[in-house]
Amino acid sequence: MELVTPAVEPIGATGPDQHPAKCALTVLIIEDEPQIRRLLRAALEHCGWRVVEADHGRAGISEAAISRPDAVILDLGLPDMDGQEVISRIREWSGTPILVLSVREKPEARILALDAGADDFVPKPFNTGEVLARLRALRRRREQPAEHSEVACGPLRMDLAARRVTVAGHEIHLTPIEYALLKSLVRNVGKVVTQGYLLREVWGPDGDRYRNHLRVHLTHLRKKLTGAGFDRTLLHTEPGVGYRLTDCRTSQGPPDRQN
Ligand code: CA
Repeated sequence: MELVTPAVEPIGATGPDQHPAKCALTVLIIEDEPQIRRLLRAALEHCGWRVVEADHGRAGISEAAISRPDAVILDLGLPDMDGQEVISRIREWSGTPILVLSVREKPEARILALDAGADDFVPKPFNTGEVLARLRALRRRREQPAEHSEVACGPLRMDLAARRVTVAGHEIHLTPIEYALLKSLVRNVGKVVTQGYLLREVWGPDGDRYRNHLRVHLTHLRKKLTGAGFDRTLLHTEPGVGYRLTDCRTSQGPPDRQN
């Protein structure tokens, strides 16, 4: 298959996995194509990760239980079982970040993977530098304390206890639905939040009936945020899949190439 030339990042660029001495993190690669495993292994080891591999789904699940990886890179098309099932099986007992790599381009494939419990999705052919960056972002989020009464994304602050939202110190007034949508996005900052997830979070189990409403409320929310000075590119639409609020703690500039 065609692969984008690996863009191995220089050591010392950014992030904790750029310092081999500090890094004892393990990543599990579940992928049946040896060429891709070799490519990823070289890039990851260069950045100080310890790498374990599996070329089948079942072997990957076993390896996840044995090596307790700090992150998993998973291909969806595996010889013995579908990657979606691998995600579900690992999620039964592990919260380790799962980054999916797949040739499946349709939004439905992304939605299924994310809803099954994957944390992020990078299409093949992929850029190795992007995979490493997304892996770092997932690790950083994992290290965040689970819950705070106040959450932030750049100039945006949400005081969950007081139900108060400010942008650069100026309070903005949101409807209950806009507030619930923003809360879901902020709590999952940096991750793609699927439409299905938002619909269930905000409208409950029958949320799918409100799919058309979702877009309208998101538009209103985006207008209120940008009207208060929030950079509109930080709330990114993944066409047909969902939405992602850029992690401002890690953003070094404009959002990545998908934006
Ligand atoms: Ca495959």
